[in-house]
Amino acid sequence: MLQRLPSINLILEKALVISSAEDEAIWKDTIDESFSLKSAWNGIREHHSKIAWASSVWFKGHIPKMSFTAWLGLHQILSTKDMLIFLGQNREIRCPLCSAASESIDHLFFQCSYSAWISRSVLWRFNIRRKQKRKLMEEEEWMRTTFPGSNQLPTAICIAFTSSIYLIWQERNNKLHGADNSHKRVILSNILHTIRSRCIFLRLDSQTSSRDLAFSKAFDLPMFRSQKPTKRCKWVHPKPGCVKLNCDVSLASSSASIGGLLRTNDSSVLAMYSQDKIQMTIQGLELEAICHGDSLASALNIDRLWIESDSLLAANVIEGSVPCPWKKRLPLAHLKNTLLKFVSWKVSHI
Ligand SMILES: [Zn+2]
Repeated sequence: MLQRLPSINLILEKALVISSAEDEAIWKDTIDESFSLKSAWNGIREHHSKIAWASSVWFKGHIPKMSFTAWLGLHQILSTKDMLIFLGQNREIRCPLCSAASESIDHLFFQCSYSAWISRSVLWRFNIRRKQKRKLMEEEEWMRTTFPGSNQLPTAICIAFTSSIYLIWQERNNKLHGADNSHKRVILSNILHTIRSRCIFLRLDSQTSSRDLAFSKAFDLPMFRSQKPTKRCKWVHPKPGCVKLNCDVSLASSSASIGGLLRTNDSSVLAMYSQDKIQMTIQGLELEAICHGDSLASALNIDRLWIESDSLLAANVIEGSVPCPWKKRLPLAHLKNTLLKFVSWKVSHI
């Protein structure tokens, strides 16, 4: 290995003969300033292109013993009975979990009635109902392409995948070495517990899509949001005679609400509102919040209205510069009808 790094050989040779200050000065001259252990390792190791499934196993927050077992499985080098027979080390090939078929990696994790029930039940908890995959590689590819990214839900899917392989493999080993068979519900419970406890520990960002919300609800997980630094902004006074509407929304795993303020030129509060809403997308809620404030301003006989929203999409949709997503057309039509009643109005993004 060292032949590939002549500078290391030189450094070692010099290090052996240092006996004076002069030798030490020569030694320092010899050392390449850019030398580091990383550069040495990169110099001697073999480089390969990254395997597509690596991120399904070695993701942020993975559990090493579980990922390692999944890594062995995806490399097809778990010592299942078919593998041991191939190596001439075993004669018995029946699957210890179902005793109904030959044991192989694909049988053990997907085709076996015991583990197929567990996989199906885990997916149901994610509200996923689809045809059972027959091979480990197929399952991994489906998972990677259906749930890309590194937020809470894709990470939870990876934890479900690796913990299922690990716990089924552990159960298979226990059974092989004489332990009583655990009921498959126990394995399922352990997998679900692993997913939930790991997600709480990692506190990864939750998304607000219906799929992510359903997942948070099913596992009773709070919605996590990374703390962004506070950004101060100045409230710009509307002109005399004009009223400004500021509104915002809140969306959590089990609740949604809107609220807003109508303020005059001297910033005194004219009216305020808040209301619980059914859960929908964040953009839908932003539009609902504006719509509510707009109706309130109209009921108060306000002539001039300035709507200020922190949703760029909502501001653009009201202005008509971007098309409206179809689910929000109804409140938008109502909003535009109400806006016609004002002497003047404008909308801006804050
Ligand atoms: Zn089986």
